[in-house]
Amino acid sequence: MRRLIHTVLNRFLEVLFPQRCLGCRQEGELLCKNCLAKSRKNFREKSSLPFLDRLFSWGSYEDKILREALRRFKYHGTYGLASPLTKILHDLIKPYLSSFSEKTVILPIPLHLRKELDRGYNQAALLAEKLSAETKIPFDAGLLKKIKATPSQTALSGRERVLNVYDSFGVKFPERVKNKTVLLVDDISTTGATLSEAARVLKSSGAKAVIGLVVARG
Ligand SMILES: [Zn+2]
Repeated sequence: MRRLIHTVLNRFLEVLFPQRCLGCRQEGELLCKNCLAKSRKNFREKSSLPFLDRLFSWGSYEDKILREALRRFKYHGTYGLASPLTKILHDLIKPYLSSFSEKTVILPIPLHLRKELDRGYNQAALLAEKLSAETKIPFDAGLLKKIKATPSQTALSGRERVLNVYDSFGVKFPERVKNKTVLLVDDISTTGATLSEAARVLKSSGAKAVIGLVVARG
């Protein structure tokens, strides 16, 4: 509840005060074009993660500005960051949009209902919804569900992360994912365990391909 009040207050302050870039403090946007361009880091786009066909990411979680932006977006309700963060996701897939089949759908990595109620929002869903509006690729928020509450992945080893998320996702309407390409959106991917497990469940429900799309890799 306290977090929710904090989120609402933050939203109010965002409207009251002029926005400054988190990186260079320049007035205008919360993340300016220059700082975003500087945070770009190329990782291998092809995924070596099981069940995931590709993985696109903008930068590294080691990048100070990107890390601060994601922290504020995820935990402090700084919704204004949804625009610049969606823009970089869009930039990542723009060259490939024409190669995606018409049967493509955008899904966010879901939060467990209890966690979402506590936080007041799902940061991945905000990005996914905005990306859908920009790309005109349909967004299907309720399709992938977090059916098992799992402890945070942060303090766990790679192996523990895989076990932690195993069987924690469910597909509510398998017929809506059958033969489709899924663009799976999240803010951060560290070992890829979460994306990979979600991809496994989606494919067992009939998804043709699953492509991960994240702002930062840890
Ligand atoms: Zn800047």
